[in-house]
Amino acid sequence: MPGSKSTAELYADYKIKVQKIADVRNALAVLGWDQETYLPEKGAGFRGQQITTLSTIAHELFTAPELDNILQALKGNTDLDPVQQKNILLSTEDYEKNKKYPAAFVADMSRVTNESYHAWIKARKANDYNVFAPALSKMIALKKQETDILGYEGHPYNALLNEYEKGANTAMLDTIFNEVKTALSPLLTQIEQHPPVNKDFLHLHYNRDVQWQLGIHLLKDMGYDMQAGRQDISEHPFTTSFSPQDVRVTTRIDENDFGNMTWSCIHEGGHALYEQGLPTEQYGLPCGEATSLGIHESQSRLWENNVGRSLHFWQHHYPRLQQLFPENLRAVSLSDFYKAINKVQPSLIRTEADELTYHFHIMIRYEIEKGLMDGSIAVKDLHHTWNEYYRQYLHVTVPDDVHGVLQDIHWSHGSFGYFPTYSLGSFYAAQFFTAAQKQVPELDNNIIAGNYQPLLEWLRTNIHPFGRYYTSNELCKKVTGKELVFGDFLDYAKKKYGGIYNF
Ligand SMILES: [Zn+2]
Repeated sequence: MPGSKSTAELYADYKIKVQKIADVRNALAVLGWDQETYLPEKGAGFRGQQITTLSTIAHELFTAPELDNILQALKGNTDLDPVQQKNILLSTEDYEKNKKYPAAFVADMSRVTNESYHAWIKARKANDYNVFAPALSKMIALKKQETDILGYEGHPYNALLNEYEKGANTAMLDTIFNEVKTALSPLLTQIEQHPPVNKDFLHLHYNRDVQWQLGIHLLKDMGYDMQAGRQDISEHPFTTSFSPQDVRVTTRIDENDFGNMTWSCIHEGGHALYEQGLPTEQYGLPCGEATSLGIHESQSRLWENNVGRSLHFWQHHYPRLQQLFPENLRAVSLSDFYKAINKVQPSLIRTEADELTYHFHIMIRYEIEKGLMDGSIAVKDLHHTWNEYYRQYLHVTVPDDVHGVLQDIHWSHGSFGYFPTYSLGSFYAAQFFTAAQKQVPELDNNIIAGNYQPLLEWLRTNIHPFGRYYTSNELCKKVTGKELVFGDFLDYAKKKYGGIYNF
C-alpha cells in the first residue's frame, strides 16, 4: 500500500512504472523507425500487429490504477525536490487528461480517422475536395466534441492548441498572425517589385553520394553525436528518439535539387541536437521530454534558417561546396548562391515555401481551423475559402484542390491545432537566436569560422536541459527576458531580405 511507504520509496516506484511505459513507447519508436527505413515489403503485415500490441500495452500500463495511487500519494508532497514535484504534477495532468476521454469517443475517433485518411487519399486521386468533405465533416464534429471533453477558456480552438503547445491560445495567435499580415505583407510586396533571383543552378545534377557525404559532414559540424545516433534514408525526413543516447535522423536526396537534402538534413539535425541534449537522468519522465512542438521546431529552424541559410554559414562552407560540385558552382559567386538559397516567391505548396511566405501558409490554416471550430467557416465551402485566402495573402491562383485544400495530411489525421506550432517555431527561433547573439561573445565570428560549439553550448545550457520543467512560454521568458513576440523575427527578416533585395 502506498500509505506505508516513504516518499523516496514511492518516488522510486513511480519512476520504475513511468520508465517502463517509456521503454515500451521507445520500442514502438524503434519499430516505427524501421518501418520507414529498412522494413522489407512482406514484413508490413505482422509489423502492424506488433505495433498495435505494444501500443495496447503502453496504454494499459499508463491507465493502471496502481500508477494513479502512487500519483495521488505523491501529489503536492513538498519533500520531493522541485524537479521531482514537477514530474509528479505533469504525470498527474497527463493521467487525468487521458481519463477524460470516454471509451466510445476513442473508438469513434479511431474509426473516423481511418475513414477520413482514406477519403483524403481518394480525394487527392480524384483531385476533388467534395470526395473528402463528408469525412472531414465527421472529423470536425468529433473535434468539437473533443474541445468539450478537454475543456477550455475563451475560444473552443484553445483546447486543441493546448494539446501541441501548452498555454497557446487564440488571443496570443491572433496578435502574432495579425502582425504577419500587417508587417510581412508590405515586405512581400517590396520583394515582388524586384527582378527575380536566379536559382536555376540549384537544380542541376548533384551526385547522390557526394550529397550524402555533405550531409554527414554538416551534421558532425553542428555537433550531432554520431555515437548516439545515425542517419538513414526515408521518403519523408524525420527525427526519432529512443533515449538521449540514441537519436536517429533520416533524410532524402534529390539529385536535381541541391536544397532538398541540405536543409532538411540541417533541420532534422537541429531536432536531434535537442533530443540528444535532454537530461539522461530524467529518461522516461516528463522533465526528460521535449517541452512542446513549438520549442522543438524552434531548434530545427534555428539551425536550418538562422544558421544554415545565413551568409556567415556559407562563408565557411561555400568554397568546399564549390570543390564538391565544381561543374555546377565554379562560376557562381557566394553572393549569388546566398541569394538563390533565400529566394522569396509566393507559391501554392506549404512544404516548398521560402522562409518568409511560409508564415502566410500557416496563418491561412490557422484562420481556417479557428473558423471551423467556431462554425464561422463551413466545411462545404472550405475549398473556396482556401482559394480566396491564397489569392488575398499570397497573390496566387489555386488551380485545383490537390494544389490547394487537399495538400496537407494533417486534417485527415485529426491534427487540428498543429500547424501554428510551425510558425511559432520560427518566431521562437528568431527570439532565441537574437538572445544568443547578445549573450555569446563572438557568436557570428565563430559561425563564420565554422565553429558551432559556442552556439550549441548556449543551447545546451539555456534550452535543452529542462525538458518539460518549463512551458514554452516560461522558457522563452527565462531565456530572452520576454514572452514570445513577433518583433525579433520581423527584425531578422527585414535585415536579411533588405540585404538581399536592396531595400
Ligand atoms: Zn521540424
